[in-house]
Amino acid sequence: MTYIAADDRYETMTYRRCGRSGLDLPLVSLGFWHNFGDDRSLEGQRAIVRRAFDLGVTHMDLANNYGPPYGSAEKNFGELMRSDLRPYRDELVISTKAGWDMWPGPYGDHGSRKYLRASLDASLERMGLDYVDIYYHHRPDPQTPLEETMTALADAVRAGKALYVGISSYGPERTAQAAQILRELGTPLLIHQPSYSMLNRWVESELLDVLEREGVGCIPFTVLAQGLLTDKYLGGVPEGSRASRGSSLGMDMLSDENLARVRALNEIASGRGQTLAQMALSWVLRDRRITTALFGASSVKQVEDNVAAAAKVEFTADELAAIDEHAVE
Ligand code: NDP
Repeated sequence: MTYIAADDRYETMTYRRCGRSGLDLPLVSLGFWHNFGDDRSLEGQRAIVRRAFDLGVTHMDLANNYGPPYGSAEKNFGELMRSDLRPYRDELVISTKAGWDMWPGPYGDHGSRKYLRASLDASLERMGLDYVDIYYHHRPDPQTPLEETMTALADAVRAGKALYVGISSYGPERTAQAAQILRELGTPLLIHQPSYSMLNRWVESELLDVLEREGVGCIPFTVLAQGLLTDKYLGGVPEGSRASRGSSLGMDMLSDENLARVRALNEIASGRGQTLAQMALSWVLRDRRITTALFGASSVKQVEDNVAAAAKVEFTADELAAIDEHAVE
C-alpha cells in the first residue's frame, strides 16, 4: 500500500542544532549497521523505517559496508526510498560513510581519495540518490595524509554529491586537525560519530571539549551497547537477538558481572519511569554537546521504545551518581 507519512510526525520529536551549522537533527536517529541486510525481510525493514519517520526520526545513518552482505543495507534503503520515501527526500538527512573494508585490493579500504570518491559514487547508485546529506570518513587512517582524506570529503561537497561532511572514531587531536583543514577548504566539519554509552565514556575526557570549541556536532553510536544496555538479556538470550546470532555482540559481553550491572541500571531506569534502553539514550542526551543519539532496532516496538527516550533527557544528581556507581569501573 502506498505510504503516506503521519500528519503529526513533527509534533512530539525534539530537534537539536548540529554544532554551529544550520542543520537540526532529531534527538534520536536510526542506524542501519544491522537489521537492514539481505538476512532480514524487506517488509520488516519497511515497517521500522516507516514507524521511525512517522515519529519524527528524520535522520537515517548508513555506510557503504552495512549489510550483510556489504552494500545491501544501502541497496535495501534504496528500495524503500523508491517505494516509500521519495516524496519526503527533502525531509530526510541521509548519511553514508567509507573507511572500513569494502572491496578487495588496495583501493577499497582506509582513507585514500581514490577509495572515498569511488565509494560515494557506488553508495549513491545503490540508494538511488543524487546526493547524501552527510558523507563521513568512517575511521582514522594514520597511513594516509589527513589533507588527502579531508580534501576528498570537501570535493564530494563541491561535486554536489554530499551536503556536509563528518568523521567517525577520530581521537581529539586528529579531530581538531581535521576541523582546521576542512575550515580552510571552506567545508566546515559538521559532525563527529564516536562510540559513547554509560559503559564506554572515552569521549568525555577531551573529545567533547574539542567538538564544542570547533562548533562540531556529535552523534554517538552503540549507545545501547548493541542491546546489552536494554532489558533484553536479563532473562536469558532471546531467540533471534544479536547475541544469539553470533554477530557483533559476543557472548562474553553477557558475563554475570555485566548482567549484574545491567540489572542495577534497569532498576534505576524503572525509578525514572523509563525502560533501560530509554535511559541509555537519554543519558547521552543529557549533555547538550550531543546532537542526537543513534540507535539500531530490529522491530517497530524497539523504535517506539527508543523514540520515547527523547521525552525525558534530564537527570537528577542522585540518578547520575547511582548510574556512575554501577556503570563505571
Ligand atoms: P545499538 O547499541 O543501538 O544496539 C542496537 C540493538 O539493540 C538492536 O539491534 C536490538 O538488538 C537492541 N535494541 C534496540 N532497541 C531496543 C529496545 N528498545 N529494547 C530492547 N532491545 C533493543 O547498536 P548498533 O550497533 O545498531 O549501533 C547503532 C548505529 O550506530 C548503527 O546502526 C550504525 O548506524 C552506527 N554505528 C556506527 C559505527 C561507526 O563506526 N561509525 C559503529 C557501530 C555502529 P536485537 O537486534 O538483538 O533485537
